[in-house]
Amino acid sequence: MVVGERKPLSEIKEMVRPYGKILIAGCDTCTAECLSGGRKQVAELAAALDMAFRLEGKAMEILEISVDRQCIQDFLLDIIDKAAGAEAVLSIACGAGIQSLAERLPGKAVLPGLNTMFIGESSGTGLWQERCQGCGDCMLGVTGGLCPVTRCAKGLLNGPCGGSQGGKCEVSMTLKCDVPCVWALIYDRLSELGELDRLTAYCGPKDWRPAGSSGPRQLVRPDH
Ligand code: SF4
Ligand code: SF4
Repeated sequence: MVVGERKPLSEIKEMVRPYGKILIAGCDTCTAECLSGGRKQVAELAAALDMAFRLEGKAMEILEISVDRQCIQDFLLDIIDKAAGAEAVLSIACGAGIQSLAERLPGKAVLPGLNTMFIGESSGTGLWQERCQGCGDCMLGVTGGLCPVTRCAKGLLNGPCGGSQGGKCEVSMTLKCDVPCVWALIYDRLSELGELDRLTAYCGPKDWRPAGSSGPRQLVRPDH
């Protein structure tokens, strides 16, 4: 999923201050899963903004909506209809959803209420962790299903480095929390699989062009 965190209320408040009527638009897929931008968070944000502006004596009408996915055009129709009655739209979808909406609302301010952070997974209660950078040339097949591009602090394709101690990455000291060394995890995983010989093969420099180094990426399916 795409993981994001709602912006601080004070920042959102200043963004919407020029308007008198706004629509808060949530997304009930990724950002709902990470408890940042779904239907419930739309209601919470609307209530918090309403209270904040009331305390200032500023009139602010707040409409609410949430759709299954803001990054898919067909799901945007309800937002587009409802946005007609608002001066601005505050989206708490990911950056893709916000841009998708902005492109379909010419002449209307579409504002980000969420900071998009990474592609990750839910790793435990109240915990989401980065797992993929969308490099466009997945190497999980040779690393036991663990991504060094994303999970090694140095992005090493041949590891571990000398900072790996007791299965922990050297950034654990700086971050003051235990960060597993992904190359130690890869070693353990390949050991379980009986594929440790994979570690004897040198992994050459990665071609970063599929990762977006040549500009914005797109996927085209000519048969559709
Ligand atoms: S190797 Fe690339 S595509 Fe595969 S998980 Fe890592 S970043 Fe994502
Ligand atoms: S300790 Fe492990 S995860 Fe950390 S930078 Fe070195 S190889 Fe990468």
